[in-house]
Amino acid sequence: MLFLIYFGNCSYTFASMKSGNKISNIKDISLSELEAFVLSVDEKKFRAKQIYNWIWKNHVSSFNEMKNIPNSFKSKLERQFSIYKIILKDIQESDDNTVKFVFKLIDNKYIESVLIPSAKRTTACISSQVGCPLGCKFCATGFMKYERNLTPAEIIDQVVILNDYSQKEFRHKLSNIVIMGMGEPLLNLNNLLNAIDVIVDNDALGFSPQRITVSTSGLVKEIKKLADIKPKFNLAISLHTANNLKRTNLMPVNKSNPLPELINALKYYHSKTNARITFEYLMLNNVNDSLQDAKELAEFCKNFPSKINIIEYNEIQDSEYQKSGIEKTQEFVNYMESKNLVVNVRRSRGKDIDAACGQLANKIK
Ligand code: SAH
Ligand code: SF4
Repeated sequence: MLFLIYFGNCSYTFASMKSGNKISNIKDISLSELEAFVLSVDEKKFRAKQIYNWIWKNHVSSFNEMKNIPNSFKSKLERQFSIYKIILKDIQESDDNTVKFVFKLIDNKYIESVLIPSAKRTTACISSQVGCPLGCKFCATGFMKYERNLTPAEIIDQVVILNDYSQKEFRHKLSNIVIMGMGEPLLNLNNLLNAIDVIVDNDALGFSPQRITVSTSGLVKEIKKLADIKPKFNLAISLHTANNLKRTNLMPVNKSNPLPELINALKYYHSKTNARITFEYLMLNNVNDSLQDAKELAEFCKNFPSKINIIEYNEIQDSEYQKSGIEKTQEFVNYMESKNLVVNVRRSRGKDIDAACGQLANKIK
């Protein structure tokens, strides 16, 4: 059937959830797919743009609200599609104004997003999967069971809801979007790219791609694929140590994506995009915070123009790791700066509300 072709790159549709009558979420299909559908049911092509605007500019929740769509066409749409939004189940506010959102999905699974306001910006941290199959030893999501990829609409809905909240509570739109919530975004690359297309489209959400950062644990094949697409958003690599053996201990994904291969992929990425590479580096007490670790990191960063974000570890239940002390962190930073590297130190936010990715959804479950 035609629709199976249209929805080929969504890893999940309602088709797989409902037996009998298949109803797909219309928000999961792109504008060009919508145009193809409209033409296939003998409607005019411009109708697709009208529907797309109702969905992503006006955020309607039923076809009935689409005022300029003829009733006969609305019935056709209703037969094929639903309009589904993720359900907000819980909001927790931290003493430092960080806000954590827990969402329930159509199949009763939970994901979370975090809103991080600061003096200069409001950042939304968005999930890309339910759980994560990569099992990093320091990460709450890594301890969860991996369930599935999020659909494009489930990724976009998080942005829409956090943006609404930001406008209501802080009186301005989101300034930054980071794909650093639950999951490994590059394992859900097609849906992620489809979601970002809508997020940056001026006929939809209209965010600047330069304000979007996708964070990855360092999947070599996917980084090369991204390089060929030359994305306008930023790429961040969760490095956490420049020592190959230590990294395999911390992040099992390093076994199949070892550092020498990651270096090659990032050199390729830089050659294609000319982009500076951002590295995330969690400070773990007596694990990756010695002067020797700093030396290895500085050496690693010589391979391409780099920026390093040093991150305070948000300690979680189940994990054997603790955060590094202030003095040790400062020595580490001083060393990096003495090598003329760009280093930012990121304090952990929302500790009282379990804002480290995966923590709250885990508890609710
Ligand atoms: N899977 C992707 C994106 C989600 S994790 C990735 O690994 O990059 C987003 C970031 O949160 C990563 O840099 C990850 O290492 C970091 N992180 C995970 N657990 C954390 C914790 N308890 N405290 C602070 N940062 C954490
Ligand atoms: Fe997955 Fe990222 Fe957590 Fe590792 S740090 S388990 S890749 S979400």
